[in-house]
Order: sequence, then structure tokens, then C-alpha cells
Amino acid sequence: MLHKLSGEILKLPMNAEKFTNEEYWEEIKRKIQREAAVSDITYHLWFENLEFCEVSGNTVYIRSEKEDERALGYLNNKFKLYFETVIGEELGQIISVKFILNNSNAVIEPEETKVDNDTLNPDYTFESFVVGNNNKMAHQVSVAVAEDPGKTWNPLYIYGGPGLGKTHLMQSIGHFILKKDPSKKVIYVTSEQFTNDVIESLRSGNSADSMSKLRDKYRTVDVLMIDDIQFIIGKEATQEEFFHTFNTLHDAGKQIILSSDKNFKEFKSLDDRYISRFAWGMTVDITPPDYETRSAILKNDAEKYNIKISEEIIDYIASNIKSNIRELEGALNKIIAFSKLNNNMEPDMDFAKEALKDFIYPSESNMITFDRIVDVVCQECNASKDAIMSNKRNADIVYPRHIIMYLAYDMLGITYQQIAHNLHRSDHTTVISGCKKIEADINSNKSGKNTREKVDRIKKILSGS
Ligand code: ADP
Ligand code: MG
Repeated sequence: MLHKLSGEILKLPMNAEKFTNEEYWEEIKRKIQREAAVSDITYHLWFENLEFCEVSGNTVYIRSEKEDERALGYLNNKFKLYFETVIGEELGQIISVKFILNNSNAVIEPEETKVDNDTLNPDYTFESFVVGNNNKMAHQVSVAVAEDPGKTWNPLYIYGGPGLGKTHLMQSIGHFILKKDPSKKVIYVTSEQFTNDVIESLRSGNSADSMSKLRDKYRTVDVLMIDDIQFIIGKEATQEEFFHTFNTLHDAGKQIILSSDKNFKEFKSLDDRYISRFAWGMTVDITPPDYETRSAILKNDAEKYNIKISEEIIDYIASNIKSNIRELEGALNKIIAFSKLNNNMEPDMDFAKEALKDFIYPSESNMITFDRIVDVVCQECNASKDAIMSNKRNADIVYPRHIIMYLAYDMLGITYQQIAHNLHRSDHTTVISGCKKIEADINSNKSGKNTREKVDRIKKILSGS
């Protein structure tokens, strides 16, 4: 917890006056250095810039130039007791020490630094994670790991493309574990942070102190999560440190959770020793969400923001943004922001299209795919997609099915075999004859169904003109 100093001007007790003398203060710090048996490097790094600040009651405030809260947290954890002992002796009374950040007057409280969970995004919980076919297995395994960390699957390796929910799922595990047992030490880092910590330790000459700092951080935890592990592959020193961290934690039965954009088996340059270790645990993937999952995520989000978004708009976004949930949510957020700017008006379809014109590129929304051909033909011919895919042979199903075959061949340039496969037919000769029938009817209108006009209209819809 951070809390603010009162802002009152506090009078120093008589015998504390001497601390404002720089030389005297330096002497005290040197004494603490000896007591704590730390090197000159550490002294330089951590003690030199500490300023005696004020005394209030029996609390001594010490200000640090360091602007990083976590650095102060470290100081607090490691050296507070030495400061209290030495200063207390000088003052002849029992005191407690509080470290203050230079720029904020905020006091670092010890409990802040025990658990490194301030890095978890509070929104990334199991409760807000929508389960669909694309992530069912990954979700199930994650819940099992969260319920029994270190015991079920270790390591847990989650992979999948960008914006598909790896970070969200991973952090959900962290939240779950901490909620159940707040004393658990859970640490989440991106592989970039991990790399930086290793570099930092190397930079300080791999001194005993910097190494122990690094090890303290990573090897004493109950749960270690490293996100986007692909970025440490090929970075030798980081990889080596990771390897030892992994072994230490795994041997101690501590849970390790990793995420990546690929299955580890696909990393060509990855050493066998990593591969074998990753294989000890469980590997799960997250694939792009299907339409239902995309709409469910959007509906969830709309509910969260308490904004009414019509089915039509949800459908518009879910049909156009398919491969990245971050973008999907970005599109919805844009509509919500637009609506707020316009006196919270309930967005209509035109409004949504306008808001998303940079999001849903014409080329993307109008990209001609097999699925879109099926959708548009079904719509124009009043047929159901299920019937089209079924074995039904009634004329009102066979006709739109043939149009789909013709358009897929004509507009997508794919093979008869591929079309047969997409339509769940085993024999591609039915596709050939279907295409021929439509072609003939376009020229002759023998069926009297105005096939030429119909096909033209569908083509226009498909190309967005
Ligand atoms: P990744 O780490 O795979 O790149 P993120 O976990 O950062 O993806 O997810 C991107 C965004 O999509 C986040 O805002 C996240 O909350 C959201 N998201 C992803 N998957 C789901 C899901 N299944 N349910 C709800 N929100 C999700
Ligand atoms: Mg991520």
C-alpha cells in the first residue's frame, strides 16, 4: 500500500538534528553498510542517494532518489531492519523506518513488496474469460492448474496467435491462486522484463549481490509466469538463466506457466534440454474464436460498459473481425467512445459503420471467401446454410448449391475438388456438372429463374458495390 505523508512540518526531536548534517548521515549509512555486510557497489547503488528526511513520532522517513517503486520495495525488504537498528541506537529509542519515493512523498509499505501481483491486470480473471471452442481445453487445463498449482501440470505452456487471450488466461490463473491464498508468491513478467533483469544483473558485473537479487526475485516464488517466451529464444544469457530458474522451481514443485506464439516444438533453434522440460508439463493452444465466441465476447464487453448495442452491430463487428480479440474489442470500444461523445446516444448501424470505417477496411469486409459466398447466396435465395451443406436434393436447395459452386469456381479460382470438400461432397464431378448447369442457364434462362440477374446481383453484393 502506498500512503501519503501528512504534509505537516514536523519538528525533529533534539537529538535527531544531527542527522541533517551530511557527514554524520554518511557515517551512519557506512555503519549500516558494515552491519549489513554489503559491498561498495551495493552501497553506491542503494545507499548513496538516501537522504534523511524527517522524524515523526517514532518513525524515521528516508527519502530515495530512486523513482522506481519496486526498487524501493527491494531496499525496504532487504535493509530496513539494519536502518532501524543503527538509527535507533543513535537516537536511543526504538524507531521504525519508512522509505519515501523522491518524486511523490509516497511511503513504501512492506506488504506492497512481498507479492508482486501489482503487475496483474485486474480485468484478466476467469470470470471475464469467455469460453468457446477455440479455448475450451486451454481454459480447462488452466483452471486445474490454478486449483492445484505445481501439482497437476508443470509447466503449463499456452500458445496461440496474437490477441487470442493467452495473457488474459495466464493472469486469470495468478488471480485465482492469490485469491485463494494471498500469501502465495506469484510473479508475472513478460519475457522482455525477464531479459532486462538478466541484463541488469550482468551489467552490475554479475556481482554476488545482483545475482542474489535476480534469484530472490525469480527463484523464491510459488508461481512464475513468463509471457511471450518466444522473445528469449536465441538470447543466450537469458535463456541460460531461465533454464536454471526453471529447474530450481520445478524441482521445488513450484508452478511455471509460459506463453508463446508457437508450440515449442516449432522453434528450430531451441535446445533439446528445453524441449524435454517443456514436454514434462501440458501444452495447450488457443485458436481464433468462432463467430459465436466473438459475439459472446462483444456482448460481455457491452454489458460491462453498460451500453446497449444492437444485435445487428454485434453481428457486423463479429462477422468482420475474426482473427484477433484485441481488435474485436478495439472496434467495440470505438463505437462506445463515439456514442459517449454523442450524448450517449444508442448507436445505430450507420453510426457503427462510420465509427468503424478505419477499423473494418473495405478490402477486409468485402474480401471474397467461400464462407461469404455461401452466406450471401443463402440470403439471396432464402436457403439455410445447414440445408446447403446437407445431402438434401430438393430443387430449392440444389439450385442455390449450384450457384455457390459456380461462384466459388468463378470468383475464387479454387479447384472443383476444393469446392466439393468445402461443401462436404465426396465427389467433385457433381461440382463440375453444377457449374455447367448455372453457366448454361446464365446464357439461356431455360429454367426461367433469371439466373443471370441473380448471379450478377450476388456478385455485386460480394464485391461490395
Ligand atoms: P494475447 O496475450 O494472446 O495476445 P490477450 O490475452 O492480451 O491476448 O487478449 C487480448 C484481449 O482480448 C484482451 O483484452 C482480453 O481480455 C481479450 N480476450 C481474449 N480472449 C478472451 C476471452 N476468451 N474472453 C474475453 N476476453 C478475451
Ligand atoms: Mg499477450
